[in-house]
Amino acid sequence: MTTTPARLTVLAGPTAVGKGTVSADVRSRYPEVWLSVSATTRAPRPGEIDGVHYHFVGTQEFERMVDAGELLEWAVVHGRNRYGTPRGPVEARLASGEPALLEIDLQGARQVRASMPDARFVFLAPPSFEELERRLVGRGTEDAEERERRLATARVELAAESEFDHVIVNDDVQRATDELVSIMGIATR
Ligand code: 5GP
Repeated sequence: MTTTPARLTVLAGPTAVGKGTVSADVRSRYPEVWLSVSATTRAPRPGEIDGVHYHFVGTQEFERMVDAGELLEWAVVHGRNRYGTPRGPVEARLASGEPALLEIDLQGARQVRASMPDARFVFLAPPSFEELERRLVGRGTEDAEERERRLATARVELAAESEFDHVIVNDDVQRATDELVSIMGIATR
């Protein structure tokens, strides 16, 4: 009997489209889905827990991880902080025959496509650019300058939709989550 190797699914999409919200919904409603915990140099937001939402590390530690080849992909996001996927846990998860999910930015998704072309690439799209802008303002966690920076990134990222295997429109978080886990081959409930 041949076994199909477990697949990696990469969820990417523009800033503020709701990737974090969809990830949180996956965590709470589908705890059986293994979600990679990224390393980042950005400071934790209120409520974020080290080791759960991110591994919060300093610039030196991040550089050490890059130099040691410990990251599957990494990127400077919004021209500012560094974010990267620790390679070991992802490889261990796939080696055990279980699917894994990464929620990363577009630059990271392109790196994963280069190194793991068999992965499945899913683009989370906003219902419209206006809606994306509204969500970014509504979140209220960034100042005006940071919002502009993120919107500029989002404009470029929206144009990348056609590079992806699947597109999910995030008009409703639970519906988007259900579509994602069903693409991963996990039964929805
Ligand atoms: P936030 O600061 O809002 O948590 O995340 C900012 C952006 O960084 C989001 O677009 C998120 O998808 C992206 N991101 C989070 N973790 C990673 C990672 O490990 N690698 C890459 N390339 N991007 C990431």
